Amino acid sequence: MKSPQRIAILGGGPAGATLAAFLAKEGRDVVLFNQGKRPPVIVGESLVPAVVPYLRRLGIEQEVADFSIWKGGATFVFGTEGRLNLRFNEVRKAKTTYSYNVPRDLFDATCLDAARRAGVRVVDHSARIERDGDGERVRLSEDSLAAARGALAGAPDFIVDAGGRRRMLVQLLGIPTVDGERRDTALHAHFEGIEVEIPGNVHTDRLEHGWLWRIPLPGRVSMGVVIDSTFIRKFGDNPNDQFDTFLKHDAVIRDYARTARRITPVVKYSNYQSHALRGVGPNWALAGDAFGFADPVFSSGMLIAMQSAEWLSGALLKGTPAALASYEKRVLHNLACWKRVIGWYYDGRLLTLFRVGQYVKDTPIGKLLDFHFRKHMPRIFTGENATHPYSLGLVQFMMKYGLARNDPDALRIH
Ligand SMILES: Cc1cc2nc3c(=O)[nH]c(=O)nc-3n(C[C@H](O)[C@H](O)[C@H](O)COP(=O)(O)OP(=O)(O)OC[C@H]3O[C@@H](n4cnc5c(N)ncnc54)[C@H](O)[C@@H]3O)c2cc1C
Repeated sequence: MKSPQRIAILGGGPAGATLAAFLAKEGRDVVLFNQGKRPPVIVGESLVPAVVPYLRRLGIEQEVADFSIWKGGATFVFGTEGRLNLRFNEVRKAKTTYSYNVPRDLFDATCLDAARRAGVRVVDHSARIERDGDGERVRLSEDSLAAARGALAGAPDFIVDAGGRRRMLVQLLGIPTVDGERRDTALHAHFEGIEVEIPGNVHTDRLEHGWLWRIPLPGRVSMGVVIDSTFIRKFGDNPNDQFDTFLKHDAVIRDYARTARRITPVVKYSNYQSHALRGVGPNWALAGDAFGFADPVFSSGMLIAMQSAEWLSGALLKGTPAALASYEKRVLHNLACWKRVIGWYYDGRLLTLFRVGQYVKDTPIGKLLDFHFRKHMPRIFTGENATHPYSLGLVQFMMKYGLARNDPDALRIH
C-alpha cells in the first residue's frame, strides 16, 4: 500500500476537521463531507487542557478563546461530602495550565474553517458508503460522488469515517464493538440562573442517583445529568419533563436548581459507552467517536477525537499497513486507559481517594505525598498523562493501600 493521495472524510466534527486539516497541510487531496444538521445543543463543551495544543496547531486558539469561557480547573463535588478543586496551574510539570469551555456550534465551525484554510474542500452533503466487492473494501455511493463532483477528481483512494456515533462503517461491515458496563442516559440542556462555585471550572456533582455536569458557557450554563436509564423514566414521558422534574427532586441539586431557567430543549444520549474492536481496513479507517467513546465524566471525548485525527494523519502519510495497525492499537490503548480511570470514578474509589487526600494534605506525610502526587495524578485528568503507566499505577496503588479503611461504596455512583 502507498500513502493515499485522495482521501474522503465523512463527518465534519472535531475529528474529521482536524484530520482533514493535517492531511491537506501535507499536500493530500482531501474532501470532507459534512452533514450540517445537528441537535439544538451539542455535548462536548468542556475541553481538557491537552486539547489546547491542537487548537494552536490548527491556528484557532485565539478565535476559540474569543467565543468561549476560559477554564482554570475542575471541581468534583461529592454530594454533601465535600469537594475537590483541581487547579490546572497547580499541576506540577503541566505543559498546559488552562483550557476552554466551548459552545460546540461555534467550535465546530471554527475547526471546519481551519480545514478549509488548509485547502480541504468541504461538501455539504450526508455521504453514504457501500461495500466494494466481497471483501472489506468500501466506496462512496453514486450520489455522494455526484455531490462531490468538482471537489473530488475521481473515486478516493481512502475513506475515513469520522461521522461520530452513527458508526456508518462499523454498521456496514459488521465490525465487532464492545460496550461499557454502564447503562446510563445523559440529558443535556442549557440554563440561565445556575451558579457555579468556581467561575470557569467544569463542575462534576455526585448526586443521590447518577451525577451532573455544570459547564459555564458565555451567558449560560450547560447542565447534563447522567443517570441510570431505567431510573430516569420515573420522571416523565419525554426528556424535557424528565430533566425538569429530576432537578426538583434530587437533594444535592434542588437548592441551586431552584433558580434555574432552561433555555433550550433537552437532548438525550444513551448507550454511548462503546467502541469498535477494529479501526482500520484495506481502504478505510475510523476516527473520533466513530471509532469509540469512553464516557462523559472526565471530558475526554474531544481529546480522544483530536488525538485519533493526529495519529491517523501520521499513519496515512506513511501509508504502510504497519503504520495503520499501530494507529489502531494506539487508539484502543488510549480508550482502555480512560475506561480504567472512568471505572474508578463510578465505583467510588477515586472520590474516596480525593476525600482522604483532603484529610491528610496538611500532615507532614500528606505534604510529602502531595508534591509527588501533584505531578502525576492531575495530569491524568488534564489528558497529558492519561496513558502514562506510572501515573495510572500510582493512583491504583493509592486506591489499594491509601483509602484508610474508608469504604469506597459510600461514594459509588448509583
Ligand atoms: C453525554 C455526553 C457528554 C459529553 N461531554 C463531553 C465533554 O464535556 N467534553 C468532551 O471532550 N467530550 C464530551 N463528549 C464527547 C464528545 O461529544 C465527542 O467525543 C466528540 O464530539 C467527538 O467528535 P467527532 O468529530 O468524532 O464526532 P462528532 O462531534 O459527532 O461529529 C461528527 C460529525 O459528522 C457529521 N456526520 C455524521 N454522518 C455524516 C455523513 N454520513 N456525512 C457527512 N457528515 C456526517 C455529523 O453531523 C457531525 O457533524 C460527550 C459525549 C456525550 C455522549
